[in-house]
Amino acid sequence: MSDTSSTLRIVWIYPDLLSTYGDQGNALILSRRARLRGIDTEISHVHSSDPVPVEGDVYLLGGGEDRPQILAAERLRSDGGLKRAVERGATVLAVCAGYQIIGESYGDDDDNPLPGVGILDIHSGRGETRAVGEIVADIVPELGGGRITGFENHQGRTTIGPSARPLSRTVIGIGNDNQTEGAYQGHVLGTYLHGPALPRNPGLADLVLRLCVGEIAPLQPSWGEKLHEERLAAVM
Ligand code: GLN
Repeated sequence: MSDTSSTLRIVWIYPDLLSTYGDQGNALILSRRARLRGIDTEISHVHSSDPVPVEGDVYLLGGGEDRPQILAAERLRSDGGLKRAVERGATVLAVCAGYQIIGESYGDDDDNPLPGVGILDIHSGRGETRAVGEIVADIVPELGGGRITGFENHQGRTTIGPSARPLSRTVIGIGNDNQTEGAYQGHVLGTYLHGPALPRNPGLADLVLRLCVGEIAPLQPSWGEKLHEERLAAVM
């Protein structure tokens, strides 16, 4: 957060194009877990006809179908606000279609490469099969955040370039390529996990919050932890 504001500004990008499987729950849980630590929050919904504000603290993007995903990428690229926000240190969590389009390139429905927003060094193309089902992965130890659980449904497969690192190692499911799931580069995180990801994974929610505000106090385990355990037990 900036020195001049004590409010965590959460920006939900393109609810009209990128918002499958309840991904908007990520904004609600991030806000809830910040408020439980005494941090005020404000959630703005930025539709694809609106400019993306550059002064947000954390930007969230959800999943989407192939055509809305292309439109979202074109608008984000011509707007430029998300890229400028990342240059000034903002945090990003992008899911599935959102993850693919913040990369360097992604494939359209015929697998022709299209340019992404270019804030995460990944390239996505289309796989031969659709990855559908429950997914479990372990966040890399250097980030902390533990085991994550979610639901994936995507044709895309993702290769991580030299400037980014895997977010996690796949235990069940496909993720990027059967071996790793998601990617990160500085404060920019991407994942294939729907669920939504943050309600199902309090550890991931707190990782995103730490990137925004620094160290945060632990919370008493509650419904989020119960949901997390229940979803893991269903597949492990
Ligand atoms: N359209 C993309 C794919 O199939 C992303 C899907 C999604 O966001 N669930 O790979």
